[in-house]
Amino acid sequence: MSNPFEAFAVPGVRRLKPYQPGKPVSELERELGISNIIKLASNENPLGPSPKAIEAVRRELTEATRYPDASGFELKAALAARHGVEPECITLGNGSNDVLVLMAEAFLHESQEAVYSQYAFAVYPIAVQTVGATARVAPARSADESDQPLGHDLAAMMALVGERTRLVYIANPNNPTGTWLRADELREFVAAVPTETLVVVDQAYADYIDDPEYPDCVDWLEECPNLVVSRTFSKAYGLAALRIGYTVCAPGIAEILNRIRQPFNVNSLALAAASAVLEDEEYLARSVQTNRIELRRLEAAFEERGLRYVPSAGNFVLLDLEGAAQPVFEALLHEGVIVRPVANYGLPRHLRISVGTPEENGRFLEALDGLPRELLGS
Ligand code: PMP
Repeated sequence: MSNPFEAFAVPGVRRLKPYQPGKPVSELERELGISNIIKLASNENPLGPSPKAIEAVRRELTEATRYPDASGFELKAALAARHGVEPECITLGNGSNDVLVLMAEAFLHESQEAVYSQYAFAVYPIAVQTVGATARVAPARSADESDQPLGHDLAAMMALVGERTRLVYIANPNNPTGTWLRADELREFVAAVPTETLVVVDQAYADYIDDPEYPDCVDWLEECPNLVVSRTFSKAYGLAALRIGYTVCAPGIAEILNRIRQPFNVNSLALAAASAVLEDEEYLARSVQTNRIELRRLEAAFEERGLRYVPSAGNFVLLDLEGAAQPVFEALLHEGVIVRPVANYGLPRHLRISVGTPEENGRFLEALDGLPRELLGS
């Protein structure tokens, strides 16, 4: 049925489809009437929250009648110390999504353009179209490229940067592809972008990588004042439900973001949990280590089964079924395993599988092995 309010929506919003989240466990339970479901669909941390974060939330809950500290003073101070910057460089968000959207709201005008890559994270088009600006989408690297298949092609992105480009979004690593860019190539790109174009490097999955060629772009901020780095507590720090992320950038940019953010955009439970988990080094190490071992296990299992995948630097892996992915997604659902179809990204042959606990990944592989062979394109 057509929506009678469609014509009232601003033009950019008319062309948008809503963000598709992973199917919640409770929904599948209701639909299929099965229990013991596992969800490997939203790139969450499978370990459960840090005990220190849980304790901090419990304590903070007793103050829930009060508004949170709107400036996030304590957390900003801790993050500033961690990144070696001044607290004025930090902007907290209700998830890093919030700050990614604030960047477009604050800096992108209707007559301007934003550049990002094909297959880049789904929130960039939402942010750009909501403000009525034009998205210039650079073709990604080909699926057959041995180095970073489907990853960002910086030369193709640079070719789209012009006089009207005010923002560039780069996900490093990218979701859903799991591909990443090396320090040398990304540094060269950032240096070549005109200074009036702001470059947002989204490092949501940075904590999972330990390759010496992977850059923490915060190190470049002094030399690159048009750079904005975003990070999140949703992944390796295990706080996705509390919604907290942040950007690190020049104080002048942060000051503008601060003008338009909602006064209490980050809640007090999130602030307390984030401060606590930052101190829980054991938790972070365990998250990263479990992910490393289990991601390798999944990739090795795909290789053994002759299945194609995109080598990943995140907490998920993109499986190429070389045929329609939707039937495989549905067959897995019937086995109680929720993974993520990515047809909305223009990848109808692929499924994204988030790395779970050892037990969950075992269940997923068992379910995969139980599928009819013809569904797996072999
Ligand atoms: N960037 C990327 C690349 C992501 O995959 C995600 C989460 N799916 C985010 C940002 C946003 O995460 P959050 O809002 O939970 O911080």
